[in-house]
Parts: sequence; structure tokens; C-alpha cells
Amino acid sequence: MAAADLSLIAYADQVAGCERCALAKTRTQVVFGAGSPTADLMFVGEAPGFHEDKQGVPFVGAAGKLLSKLLEGIGLSRDEVYIANVLKCRPPGNRDPQPEEIESCESHLFRQIELIQPKLVATLGNFATKLLSGRPNGITQVHGRPQHVVLGGNDVTLYPIFHPAAALYTPRMLQVLEEDFARIPELLGHAQPEPEGPAEPAPAPVVEQAQLGLF
Ligand code: URA
Repeated sequence: MAAADLSLIAYADQVAGCERCALAKTRTQVVFGAGSPTADLMFVGEAPGFHEDKQGVPFVGAAGKLLSKLLEGIGLSRDEVYIANVLKCRPPGNRDPQPEEIESCESHLFRQIELIQPKLVATLGNFATKLLSGRPNGITQVHGRPQHVVLGGNDVTLYPIFHPAAALYTPRMLQVLEEDFARIPELLGHAQPEPEGPAEPAPAPVVEQAQLGLF
């Protein structure tokens, strides 16, 4: 087993007994994260829900199924990426994470990022976006716009997108999420499939967008 793998497992074992905040009293278990310990692409959601708390795995409920489908749509599987949350424990009744819970838990996420060293971190929704960008701008304003950040001592492209739960029952939101997802291969530097039919103008490469001052 590779060193990165072992370090992440050792860290997960450590976090399994975390009692830094009151969520330790109501959780079934810590939901540390899942996927490849050497993934180039990492997703960060909000917090475990009912099913995640029971199974100990992030994004296994309805929003998780949509996330898996969106991943499939860009030719990736859950095993090839890493999936984690801002909070590692379920807030009772799936309420929003509280500032003191985020503060207690954030070093777990930063350590995960430091160990995994992803190139691209896609933040799902407001909580992950605000925490990892260090800015108050909400997801409606910043979704689909890559930003350069330094996380865990590494240069990372942060890519805010809507949380899949927001798209479950809102077709317009799903369309936006699919469009934002479609740019992930390009942001990872993966080859794009040949477009079918008449060629469409290619979207501006990331570097050009940076020059335009978009991030
Ligand atoms: N929503 C999240 O933000 N995370 C999960 O793990 C599941 C649903």
C-alpha cells in the first residue's frame, strides 16, 4: 500500500474518535471520506445526512446518487475521486452546520487535502465554498468559476458548483450543475471527447479566463 494511502487511513482512525464538538454525542459514526487517496479531483460537500451517518460513507443518499450519475456523465467513477464533507458528523435533523462546528472540524478537512494533494477541489454548495475560498461570496454568485487557492501548502484550483441536493427537484438547477460538471475534464487537463456534429466554438481555456480577470 502506498504511503499516502496509509497516512490517510491512519488519520481516519484518529478522527473516528473525535469529540471536538457536540455532534459527537448525536452521531452514529464519523463519516471521514471515501475514494482514492491520490485523487486529482476531490469533492467537498456539507455534512453527512441520515444515510451517510448510518453507513459511514459520504454521499450515499439521493444527492449522492445524483453525484455518482454526474460523475459517470464525465467518464469518472467514485473510486477515481475523493469525496469528503466540511463536517464529518451529521447535524441532528440535517440542520445547517453551525460556525463553531465548522471551526472545530475544519482542520480535519485541511489535513485530508494536505494528504491527498488534489489538483482540483470542487466545492458543493455554500458551506464548502465559503470555507475553502476564505471568502463570503455565495455559490449562486461564484459557481462555475475556477479560483486559484493554496490548500494544505499546495496550489489548488477551487471549483465551486451547486450542491447536488439543490438540483434534485429543480430541473433548471440540474442543467446548471451539468454544465458546470462538463468543464471538470478540461480543468483536470483531461482530453475532451470529439464533439459530434458541427464543431462548436471551444470554451476559453482557464488561463485565458484568468487573464480576463475572472479568477
Ligand atoms: N450532503 C452532503 O453534503 N454530504 C453528504 O455526505 C451527503 C449529503
